[in-house]
Amino acid sequence: NQGIGSWPARRARMTPDRIAITYAGRHHTYREFRDRVYRLASRLSVGHGVGRGDRVAFLGANQPALVETFFAAGLLGAVFVPLNTRLAVPELRFILHDAEAALLVLGEERDGDGLPGRHVTAAGYEELIAAGSTEPIDEPVAQDDVCLIMYTSGTTGRPKGAMLTHGNLTWNTVNLLVDVPLAHDEVTLISAPMFHIAALAQTLIPTVLKGGRVILEPSFGVARTFDLIEAERVTVMFGVPSMFAFLAQSPRWAGADLSSLRHLLCGGAPVPEPLIRTYQERGLTFLQGYGMTETSPGALFLAAEHSVAKAGTAGVPCFFSDVRLVAPDGSPAAPGEPGEVYVQGPNVMPGYWRRPEETAKVLSEDGWFRSGDVGVADADGYVRISDRITDVIISGGENVYPAEVESALYEHPGVAECAVIGVPDDRWGEVGKALVVLRPGAAAGADEMLKHLDGRLARYKIPKYLEFVPELPKNAAGKLLKAPLRKLYGG
Ligand code: ATP
Ligand code: MG
Repeated sequence: NQGIGSWPARRARMTPDRIAITYAGRHHTYREFRDRVYRLASRLSVGHGVGRGDRVAFLGANQPALVETFFAAGLLGAVFVPLNTRLAVPELRFILHDAEAALLVLGEERDGDGLPGRHVTAAGYEELIAAGSTEPIDEPVAQDDVCLIMYTSGTTGRPKGAMLTHGNLTWNTVNLLVDVPLAHDEVTLISAPMFHIAALAQTLIPTVLKGGRVILEPSFGVARTFDLIEAERVTVMFGVPSMFAFLAQSPRWAGADLSSLRHLLCGGAPVPEPLIRTYQERGLTFLQGYGMTETSPGALFLAAEHSVAKAGTAGVPCFFSDVRLVAPDGSPAAPGEPGEVYVQGPNVMPGYWRRPEETAKVLSEDGWFRSGDVGVADADGYVRISDRITDVIISGGENVYPAEVESALYEHPGVAECAVIGVPDDRWGEVGKALVVLRPGAAAGADEMLKHLDGRLARYKIPKYLEFVPELPKNAAGKLLKAPLRKLYGG
């Protein structure tokens, strides 16, 4: 069995007594974790007829059942389909039909009202485990078998189901471990949702491989995060930039004991440079990466030793992956010139689930995946991800990259959060409009804030408008949603 489903058992063989999972103050050792995965897999197989290639969906926040169902499905050669807990019932119904799920496992906080197919409730789940067998399961699972259908975050449109194989996830883990020297005693806090790729593939899977301990949290909260870091001596954490910004803006920040933290993985969206500096002043270096669901997700990585010199870039391609930047005319983009990011490697998905046309649009015959993101490489090959192609503002024929403008705005002490979008303009075609959430207590005017950009940015990049807003729309991954912003404020 070359599949990831065998990893809890492989790990238990080596370190049965170490704690694998902590949830709600309860612990499972690797032996218990393995046994629960075997028990569950045996009942899924015998009781529910789940076999090779069948889809097993899970709906719920981070909790042991999510992790166990992922590994148990993998052990059987079945396909795990984690569902976004923020979706409404009709959206969930659509995905369950689309995935043709054989079974839906429900988290302890969910019921299956209105959802099609066979369900396992939280109570039923524990009954399955109690009735299951701890006999080893050894299905012939190959690296190329699909292990996961993970829906993309839906930042630019409807989520697409990326098929990821056991090999994809294994190679992503190898790529990560080449750069992040995870130890056997890591304590990994997982509060980003595991129905998005980063939490699952950049924290859970590598920690299990190393035999560390994962602390599962159903959601991210600032106070709770500080409490856990201090009480559990957390060493590893993944977050999108907004999570790390919330921590730094909290009154707890100054006095918190953060000395246990070893690896802070930050990615999923552009990381503002002021945020990088704020953490650096506390002796904390972000491990910055760039990736996407379709690449399992790691594509670029900035190693800790270069994080200061190359701050603001997402680094160089991961060891076993290749990245190239392609200019609009199809030629390679020269250093300093923007180009679309293409990724190739053993971590690239074989395609979207049942969407051959969409797959053909983004995946070439020779395995290059088109990301839809714009990147610029420096002379040493370090790539700065500037924006999504769809977010680029074209003002008077010049390309304006919102992420760059946002980063400059973040230098203003009154800015808690900001987003820059393009709005139509008679003279320039499009001009920038900044939407700013003020920090509590900050009193700044729009003109003063725009003046702050003078000298920091070329004139054509400075937004023509700036509006204060109470909040910015985000998806469950914590990513800014620019499409609704354009709808609301783009007129
Ligand atoms: P959808 O594809 O459904 O619109 P999504 O692209 O947000 O949603 P994900 O696969 O979760 O879904 O996210 C990948 C995207 O996140 C990348 O294509 C890129 O736009 C953005 N991203 C990830 N890491 C970084 C980073 N370090 N800097 C800038 N952007 C990043
Ligand atoms: Mg995407």
